[in-house]
Amino acid sequence: MQEIKIGLEVHVQLNTESKLFCSCPTSQAEPNRNVCDVCLGFPGTKPVLNEKAIELALKIGYALDCRINKKFLFSRKTYFYPDLSKNFQITQLETPVSSGGKLNIKDNKIRIRRVHLEEDPAKIIREEDHVLLDYNRSGIPLVEIVTEPDLKSPREARIFLQKLQQILEFIYVGDFSKEGGIRVDANISMTKYESKYGYEEGLVEEKKGGVRVEIKNISGAKEVEKALNYEMLRQKNLLEVKRETRLWNEKTKITISAREKEEEDEYGYIFEPDLPVIELSDKILNEIQSNLPELPESKKRRFLKYKISPEIIDTLLTEPELTHYFEYLCETHNEKASAVLLAKYLKRTLNYHNLKLKDVDIDVRHLRRIIDLLQKYLITDDVAEIIIREMVGDHVKGKKVREPEQVLRDLKYEKPLEEERIRKFVLDVVRENTKAVKDYKIGKKESFDYLIGQVMKKTGRRASAKRIKELLKREVG
Ligand SMILES: [Zn+2]
Repeated sequence: MQEIKIGLEVHVQLNTESKLFCSCPTSQAEPNRNVCDVCLGFPGTKPVLNEKAIELALKIGYALDCRINKKFLFSRKTYFYPDLSKNFQITQLETPVSSGGKLNIKDNKIRIRRVHLEEDPAKIIREEDHVLLDYNRSGIPLVEIVTEPDLKSPREARIFLQKLQQILEFIYVGDFSKEGGIRVDANISMTKYESKYGYEEGLVEEKKGGVRVEIKNISGAKEVEKALNYEMLRQKNLLEVKRETRLWNEKTKITISAREKEEEDEYGYIFEPDLPVIELSDKILNEIQSNLPELPESKKRRFLKYKISPEIIDTLLTEPELTHYFEYLCETHNEKASAVLLAKYLKRTLNYHNLKLKDVDIDVRHLRRIIDLLQKYLITDDVAEIIIREMVGDHVKGKKVREPEQVLRDLKYEKPLEEERIRKFVLDVVRENTKAVKDYKIGKKESFDYLIGQVMKKTGRRASAKRIKELLKREVG
């Protein structure tokens, strides 16, 4: 028997406009441009806490069912390293913003130990014979989310992270398309129980392993799964596992030993004397809690009532904006038609261009009109998708996004055929394909699809497959 315990420390960059303790912007810039005396730690400077960062950290605490600490303080974690020009990092040790939460992965409850705020160190860029430092990152607000070792497999760790990332996107605390948006330290311990006969005691269980190894600085959920899988394989082939910290190399897909693991209390921690103890009022807490956006899990439960397939709902849930659009469309239109338009045609096109809905200027009113056209049989599904492709294409080319009707005019689109004309094509096809009709009648289902295809060709795609099917069924039974 084997027992695997995996715990994660997830670093999330909060989307504030300025850094955690100074007013330097967090936006992209030339190296070492977004810096000041405070984030470089010049003598005599004092940090000033960014309130927005607290608000975002509290939102995370609420979304993960944590206990909120109404009173908390900051500490200095002292160590010397070139990425830390102050020689200490401001973080939280004794009192994190919140603690004791949970996130469920199917039947497994993953306990959240703590959620705390801290500043990011500078970025180190290693080149052949020298090292470059970019202090733009120094002081960027991070939240660290620490789980208990409740995850049971690398796969589960990946699912957990994907779910966590989805929640964080839905409560608008971070932008994960940014560099360093989500970074993970993963720890794993594998315990093997082997049964063997003892001389006097009979059958005994022998416990092997159970040593905690940490893998540092992995970017993204997929890499975490790969790194943990590699680590399991490595440990299986060892007689004795050493307690240590290892680094994941994304290029070679292996972990390498970094150092013997040091404990948190081996760092010099002192209270940060330049920052006050923070005390939050009930009013502020209530406000943050009551304004917390609806979480994906709850949205999913609501959407499932519409009798839409779970796959389509999951696609809608990949972006908060898709779910907002869905709800707007449902105010006026059928739920299924709205979901299909967004989850299939729109999402597929966005994916193709590597875009998100929030990046593209597509109006809900435009989408409503496309559904109208579909429901009046004025366009087919194919054409609906073409309209959307054209509209997103306008955005990609940097042009003003056209309205659906304008797209149709530009495409010199002809209205779909009247029923009587489609029926004539159907009759033609039935007459010209006697063998396929016969095959269909003796039970060859694929012959029916062939006949539909033939009619489609004749109509020049100006009739929907659904309508052709109906009419064809009437003729051949
Ligand atoms: Zn600064």
